[in-house]
Amino acid sequence: MNDADYEKQKVRVLERFTRWKDDMGLAGWHLDIAWYRECANTDAQGSGETAMEVSSQWQYRQALFSVYLPKVALEDDDRLDWMVCHEILHVLVAEMRGDRKVNKHEERVCSQLAQSFIWVRTCAEERGRGCVVAGTTEPTVWRDAPNTASWPR
Ligand SMILES: [Zn+2]
Repeated sequence: MNDADYEKQKVRVLERFTRWKDDMGLAGWHLDIAWYRECANTDAQGSGETAMEVSSQWQYRQALFSVYLPKVALEDDDRLDWMVCHEILHVLVAEMRGDRKVNKHEERVCSQLAQSFIWVRTCAEERGRGCVVAGTTEPTVWRDAPNTASWPR
């Protein structure tokens, strides 16, 4: 991966990371990102390369994301958005797993929540208001979910 591709992929991730961090109200969290020019050897499922992973110290509200840019470069913008959301959600649910490693249940919960978060964001954008404000009493707007057929389960 040359320097131009490296910077391009970093920008793609940072744009989404910053937006999700803001939209999820995580300004009080210390979230760092380590950037890699090479792919990781394994992911949580042991199935090969991953685009990103996170190590959380939820008790201090801090986490370190590892982002493997060659894998990121293979993903389209919608998929990358979902991936960043999914990874941040791991930070929010990590407390429930304690000292155990990530398991299939957590993966499924984070995947479903990411899809739901994207759905809610899309609904809010269609209303022209950005993110939903807590405490609103407006009726729910239902629409088709994003096409997730190619996303991991
Ligand atoms: Zn995951």
